[in-house]
Amino acid sequence: MVLLHHPLRARGNPWGTLLWDTSCPRDWETRWAPTGLQEYFPYDQVSDEEYLDSRLGQLGVQPQDIDYLVLSHLHFDHAGNIGMFTGTGAKLVCHEKEKEFAFGFDGAFNGAHLKADYAACDFDTVSGDTEILPGVTLIEAPGHTPGTMAMKVELPETGTMLFTSDAVYMGDSYGPPATPAAIVNDLTAWYGSVEKIRGIAEQSDATVVFGHDAEQLRSMRLAPSGFYA
Ligand SMILES: [Zn+2]
Repeated sequence: MVLLHHPLRARGNPWGTLLWDTSCPRDWETRWAPTGLQEYFPYDQVSDEEYLDSRLGQLGVQPQDIDYLVLSHLHFDHAGNIGMFTGTGAKLVCHEKEKEFAFGFDGAFNGAHLKADYAACDFDTVSGDTEILPGVTLIEAPGHTPGTMAMKVELPETGTMLFTSDAVYMGDSYGPPATPAAIVNDLTAWYGSVEKIRGIAEQSDATVVFGHDAEQLRSMRLAPSGFYA
């Protein structure tokens, strides 16, 4: 999850606020039970104050303060708290191909896509690489799922940060050479996306932040006390 305060005003707020992904819900174990995947991806190393609602509260942010809610993809460990933002006026954004896939299969779930997470959502979709706010670009990076996106953020002091989400799970998957980890929907597309991200990172001298790299996370400035400017 990434929370961005953007100098572009939105809805009368002094800052535009963008949330990238929503992480896992508190009731993950029962919610994910139909998929059986709670056994393989247990979210049990989390303390009470680390869930999204707690973290936002520690930052003084209410769900209704979020102007843009961007989903890198709709797996249940990224989309699990979307319900917190229904009716708040937040603009919900995902990739066109992700929406197509997520709403297009029969049944309640397909792998880690759980319709109950997002069925009630009205998404605005993007395709191609899209600058959603000045300096904030959503990057098409399919392979993990049909519509996975990464996000590039240009910061005045830190420089460029590139959040890969699950397009690249960990430093080990990034390589080089790139090594697939966990779920891959389309291997050829996945390799292409990793090299695309690598090219953008090199060109922009970006700090690349992986989707599920606990070791890297420990080395970073984290909310609520830490931030990048
Ligand atoms: Zn995923």
